[in-house]
Amino acid sequence: MIPYNETNNKNAHIVIDPLSSIPKAVDEWIIESPDDKDTFSGGDNIMIDGGGHLDYEVSVSAEVFSSEIKNAVAIWNQYKSGVIRKDTTKIVQDVKIVTKSSADLGQNINGRTSAVFNKIYISTKLIGGDTKKITNVITHELGHALGLRDSYLLSSIMYGYTSTTLSLSRADKASYDKAYRSIK
Ligand SMILES: [Zn+2]
Repeated sequence: MIPYNETNNKNAHIVIDPLSSIPKAVDEWIIESPDDKDTFSGGDNIMIDGGGHLDYEVSVSAEVFSSEIKNAVAIWNQYKSGVIRKDTTKIVQDVKIVTKSSADLGQNINGRTSAVFNKIYISTKLIGGDTKKITNVITHELGHALGLRDSYLLSSIMYGYTSTTLSLSRADKASYDKAYRSIK
């Protein structure tokens, strides 16, 4: 049994560059999800609360990604309205979006989600980068917080490598439905 820590825990997830990488098993989620029919198969990384919401907070350092975060939230909420909400003083936070240097996160890693620490880590190396790519990374990581795992399908947001996909595939939606039903 390997002890948990922020950079090595079983709920951690990695997104790798470059865009054109041939998919291979980069972490256990991909191994567990050999096709894209169903990227939800548990509930151990789901952060949606009992009220059916995923309430997020953005750390001061991650405010540099504010517009991409807003767009990423909209991609999911367009499918299920009002599920992902910005944290307020009256709402208990379910997940915090923070930045991490590539030295800490890993050089090839753009994002990581930890259900142990209830955090989404975005690499600081993305600052000033392509906004579509950043939005893809954040949308993907929010997908993990919604309970989804990685996929082999390039057209899916849950594809395990960064892409410029900005819309949910049929498989993303089906997996989200299944994850969401599991908390009800
Ligand atoms: Zn992932």
